[in-house]
Amino acid sequence: MSEGKRTAFLLSIGEELLEGRIVDTNAPFLAEEFLGLGMAVVGMHTCGDAPGSFAEQLSRWDGEVDVLVATGGLGPTVDDRVRAECAEFLKTTLVDIPGAVEPLQDYFSKNDEADAPEYFLAQGRMPSGASAFRNRAGTAWAFYVRLPKGSLLCCLPGPPHEVQAVWRDGGAKTMLADSFGMPEAHAFGTFQTVGVPEAILELQVRDLLEHGKNPRMGITARGKVVTLSAMAHPEGDASAKTVLEATAVELRNRLGPVLFGRDGDTLAARVVRVLASQGQSVATAESCTGGQLSQALTDIPGASKVFRYGWITYADEAKSSELGVDAALIQKYGAVSEEVACAMADGARQRSHSDWALALTGVAGPDGGTSAKPVGLVWLGIAGPHGVTAIRRQQGTRAGRPGVQQGAVMDALDLLRRELLGIPSLDSTPSPD
Ligand code: ATP
Ligand code: MG
Repeated sequence: MSEGKRTAFLLSIGEELLEGRIVDTNAPFLAEEFLGLGMAVVGMHTCGDAPGSFAEQLSRWDGEVDVLVATGGLGPTVDDRVRAECAEFLKTTLVDIPGAVEPLQDYFSKNDEADAPEYFLAQGRMPSGASAFRNRAGTAWAFYVRLPKGSLLCCLPGPPHEVQAVWRDGGAKTMLADSFGMPEAHAFGTFQTVGVPEAILELQVRDLLEHGKNPRMGITARGKVVTLSAMAHPEGDASAKTVLEATAVELRNRLGPVLFGRDGDTLAARVVRVLASQGQSVATAESCTGGQLSQALTDIPGASKVFRYGWITYADEAKSSELGVDAALIQKYGAVSEEVACAMADGARQRSHSDWALALTGVAGPDGGTSAKPVGLVWLGIAGPHGVTAIRRQQGTRAGRPGVQQGAVMDALDLLRRELLGIPSLDSTPSPD
């Protein structure tokens, strides 16, 4: 255990993780949270449920790190051995968590006449000497306990929503922040951009990304969103927060409207917020994206204020019957065309009585492309108070059909964001993969 920055090790438990059936999302969640506490995650490990696997990791890491966080294995099934193995490791017994066992009995009785079996009630027990964390999202209580060589062990449930509930509302984060956190020593932020490929965006900020700079910056791309991360430390008289905010201003100046959000903001959330603040609404008419644009919008809490109608008009007949697109137009120009994208957007706006409508029609692939209309070609229609227009976008195809669809959704959201904020639309040059 170090004198300086406090350290943590993350242990994900579950055979299903080792077999590749479940992707570990707990470790990334916790890693980001520890970053926020100013602690260093020095390693992550995944182990199975076999007897002894967990105890082996306790022997390995006790005394090496300040905090060891394990997720999984706290539930009622036979492969959930964390409580018992922990008690055995500590050479102690399991004791009832005050106020935990009775509600578990009641919970069981609601579904069954019988008394709850011992293995079910065990979810309300912890090794003697441990302290409990409440789990409002599930039945298994979590706990923390000091190990013989001094590391603090936190045992959290496996299901990600339960981990997050125990962390945020069950007291785990507060306990660790109070014991080890150094949040004032650094400030961390992320900055989201859309519309400019990573390699080109990087040129605009390359000097900021150089090694040894404060803040320490990183760049990552996910689909069309390129995220810049910044970890700032105090410098001279300036606090870490001041250093971070100076960088935020610098990025705004350099990147302009390409920058759309901060700290995990999404483009859809940004669009919903802008629509709501302007008291405007949007409808969608989708072909090649099959509802993914509506999904992106309705994923955002509060979407009902701005979104009421969405159509998936996949077949030509559906475009005509549902949106009033003239069949002759489809016949003449094809479904993937500027004319049809405009007609879809116009029909959706009129029929929904929304302020705006977005339409998407394209070639998602992998088949069906021609030299005139290659895979990845998407026409985005937008109808609004000032009329109807469409832009052509060629999506990169290396990420396959899902990549084309997600790229089109992001382009549509960005098109609307720019319209709403009065920012000129990006030109329609092809975007590299
Ligand atoms: P339960 O009461 O559900 O049994 P538990 O605390 O015993 O909870 P596990 O049995 O280890 O946890 O895992 C239950 C489920 O939670 C897994 O099948 C998986 O779907 C999910 N899960 C567990 N660990 C992870 C992880 N690291 N990342 C993502 N999902 C996980
Ligand atoms: Mg389990």
